[in-house]
Amino acid sequence: MNLADSESLARQLLAAGYRETPDIERADIAILNTCVVRQASEDKVYSKLHELRRWKTADRTIAVTGCIVRKEGEALRERFRHLDAVVPIGDYEPFLADLEARYDYAMGEPLPLAGRTGISHFVNVIQGCDHNCTFCIVPKVRGREVHVPLPSVLAECRKAVAEGAREVVLLGQNVDDYRDPQGGGGLAALVREVESIPGLKRVRFMTSHPQDLEMELLDVMAASAVIAQELQLPVQSGDDLILKRMARGYKVERYREIVARARSLMPDLGLYTDVIVGFPGETEEQFLNTRRLMEEIEFDVVHLAQYSPRPGTHAGDRWPDDVPAEEKRRRINELLALQREIAGRRTARWVGRNVEVLVERTDELGRPYGRNRQGKRVVVRRAPVQLGEMVDVLVEAASPGQLAGSLAA
Ligand code: SF4
Repeated sequence: MNLADSESLARQLLAAGYRETPDIERADIAILNTCVVRQASEDKVYSKLHELRRWKTADRTIAVTGCIVRKEGEALRERFRHLDAVVPIGDYEPFLADLEARYDYAMGEPLPLAGRTGISHFVNVIQGCDHNCTFCIVPKVRGREVHVPLPSVLAECRKAVAEGAREVVLLGQNVDDYRDPQGGGGLAALVREVESIPGLKRVRFMTSHPQDLEMELLDVMAASAVIAQELQLPVQSGDDLILKRMARGYKVERYREIVARARSLMPDLGLYTDVIVGFPGETEEQFLNTRRLMEEIEFDVVHLAQYSPRPGTHAGDRWPDDVPAEEKRRRINELLALQREIAGRRTARWVGRNVEVLVERTDELGRPYGRNRQGKRVVVRRAPVQLGEMVDVLVEAASPGQLAGSLAA
């Protein structure tokens, strides 16, 4: 979502005649788009702002946008006197007007934006979140849900395709909650509309929520040749009591039901999840329930995090962070080792099979790569392929993180 926001601001700046530069010494304006989901990301913002103190001159502007703005607001400017502007997410016009007044020299012709859009284009369909998971700062910093009307989503997708995108990724903190404010349709209806846009080769969406996911969506995914067969479905814990204390709104059994139904319709489904270890009060037995669930479900990827209290959240403000750091490390290391083994098995099953790859980029060795329909990264060897092409690849090798193969005959 931050990438999508950065892109939206960058496009507005480019349209106004500004240019991007990779060399900060040549820049007049530095904008930090921030994430505060963990303390470490927030600390990075502060250290970057300290660093920029040396760069700042009377003619240069430093602005901060993103999630930190709602969390810290104008207090940031008290702490960092060299900071010029604190810009709320999505509300960029007053900031752009201030810049225009400040830098009144003649701008170049606005750069054509066509060609800037990558093969894959992010589209925000919901901003904010109406859930209140007790560990999560997002509702506080992103606010309550605002749903983008279906016609606007479609217009943005069509525009992206006209500019060269071949895939769109529909984004929401809880994308399953999507409701078109005008027509009332949900996510299943939205992806069905988006997939019929001519020229679009793949539609992905994230992040799903086990409480809100509608089984109808799984039918729509299974019946489509364009919608990715991939679910980003955070489980967070394999223990019902911990899920309750997290206020996630579902039990482990509900999660199992979704996965069973999805895999019965799409046996190769790519399943991605998030897990937190060391949540306040998590006992060894509760941790083992998470471990057992990971063994049982065999996710493709698990984003593992050690619980870290965020001030402003229910858990952070009210419950002691009582699982010792050492113990959290042991638990996460145990799950990392387990997942490495599972991920190895999950990717090995592709060797010898043909997969459909949308070629997105080239890697540091100049090899083209993209994703298969299940979201797995695939490197295409020895092949003259164009970015944006959909190709059939025979998988010859697999590592836990990616697949590699040659063009299928
Ligand atoms: Fe945070 Fe996701 Fe829960 Fe919303 S659903 S509060 S974004 S963890």
